[in-house]
Amino acid sequence: MKIYINGKFYSKEDAKISVYDHGLLYGDGVFEGITFYNGKIFRLAQHIRRLYESAQTIMLKIPLSFGKMIEDVKKTVELSGLKNGYIRLIVTRGEGNLGLNPFTCQQPQVIIIADKIALYPKELYATGLNVITVPTLRTPSEAMSPRVKSLNYLNNIMAKMEAINAGADEALMLNANGFVAECAGDNIFTVKDNAVYTPGPSAGILKGVTRDAVIELAEKNGLMVYEIDMSRHDIYNADECFLTGSAAEIVPVIKLDGRTIGSGKPGPVTKTLLEQFKKLIETEPEVVCK
Ligand code: PMP
Repeated sequence: MKIYINGKFYSKEDAKISVYDHGLLYGDGVFEGITFYNGKIFRLAQHIRRLYESAQTIMLKIPLSFGKMIEDVKKTVELSGLKNGYIRLIVTRGEGNLGLNPFTCQQPQVIIIADKIALYPKELYATGLNVITVPTLRTPSEAMSPRVKSLNYLNNIMAKMEAINAGADEALMLNANGFVAECAGDNIFTVKDNAVYTPGPSAGILKGVTRDAVIELAEKNGLMVYEIDMSRHDIYNADECFLTGSAAEIVPVIKLDGRTIGSGKPGPVTKTLLEQFKKLIETEPEVVCK
């Protein structure tokens, strides 16, 4: 495995950046988590686009063109020797002094790692997740847009800790209005009477690449998809519920806050979408854009 830092490749042991990097000091930077299957990267352009949009919002100038970034991610995957895996693409603010001021940082650090990730144990895909609503709210857009995939993930980490401490598999996060936002690292969907529901971007979510793909698939299946102000009541009374994310793919949820959802087993729409998602991953042509 070779790790990319600013155009050069290093062994894992030698891949190092400064302890004065504001990515470390303040979580000042942006990142992406991207999957590849059979050497083919899933929706790379969409991930890179989101990365550049996150960077634009935090006034971080990525020192690479979009096309060069795509090329370099592909090269890193090639050099990993892996057929299937997960890419962590990071752009930090770079080395600066110990004050907050990001404008003291000269050179953003672009880091690309291609490795393996396992998010949930395999058996949970067959049995479904037990999710609880956690006290920590999703960061309000007025404070920091959750559309920015920033290196500061403490909001989500707090939520994840609360779920684990309570013995649950995953955390459901509400927004400041009491509506459902998303889970600690995944978007959420419900199915009721053969229609699909998910919170919209204005609920304060990261707009997931997997989420977009699942909406497309559901619509192709003739299912109506609605972006709604989702309450917990909607989830308690849904026929099915599932989460989406690059690492998680599509994972069924069978319980929220002690309420069994639908039959208490992964539902037929969830299963169909997961099958079709796996097919999409295999068949969708890889991006060639520059
Ligand atoms: N929400 C959050 C908070 C996330 O961190 C992620 C990515 N792990 C997602 C949703 C899902 O996004 P994607 O499908 O692009 O991986």
